[in-house]
Amino acid sequence: MGEQLYALQRRIIEQGQALPGGVLRVDSFVNQRVDMRLMKEIGDAFARRFEGIEAGCVMTVESSGIAPAGMTALAMGLPLLVCKKQSSKAARGERLSTPVRSFTKDTTYEMSVSREYLPEGARVLFVDDFLATGEAALGAARLIEQAGAILAGIGIVIEKSFQPGRGRLERLGAPIVSLARITKMRPGERDASQSICFYEED
Ligand code: 5GP
Repeated sequence: MGEQLYALQRRIIEQGQALPGGVLRVDSFVNQRVDMRLMKEIGDAFARRFEGIEAGCVMTVESSGIAPAGMTALAMGLPLLVCKKQSSKAARGERLSTPVRSFTKDTTYEMSVSREYLPEGARVLFVDDFLATGEAALGAARLIEQAGAILAGIGIVIEKSFQPGRGRLERLGAPIVSLARITKMRPGERDASQSICFYEED
């Protein structure tokens, strides 16, 4: 576990860019060009940390959550369920939906999923790339509740602990695992190792 975390932290320090407004740019290995070897390590790490939670599927939100959640689903031998941010002509059957405020885009979108794929009583592991205000994870939790399913756990690749998401999610009562927890970011700092700080215990 420690080595995967170290690899992730190292990549964040080497390639991450702290932007104004508490945004971390990780386009070169998470959001645009995706390092699938790192994603595999992330998936394996979540599978180990969530061993025994008896989830029936891994759920995420399109699009940046798909790579880490997909590798987690693969490692756990579970299907991946992708919540949509936009409606589609191809959508069929009853859909569960809820409005969600996007942290990076400053807009509100309708998060939705087909009820068919979220059966009542199903145990769901939610995985996403970032935790900021908690809006995305809380939206997913509302869909799970609408379906009468159970939120079994929350896996976050990069948590920005200086933002309110963690506190809001803790109220849901499900175990939360964040692989890298950033305590401080100073945009504009030249030395990246000085601009992005992590929890010591990670
Ligand atoms: P939240 O809903 O917790 O406010 O934010 C989580 C969602 O916003 C994630 O799905 C992620 O795509 C996006 N996000 C939040 N903060 C950041 C960030 O600092 N950098 C990037 N690239 N995406 C972020």
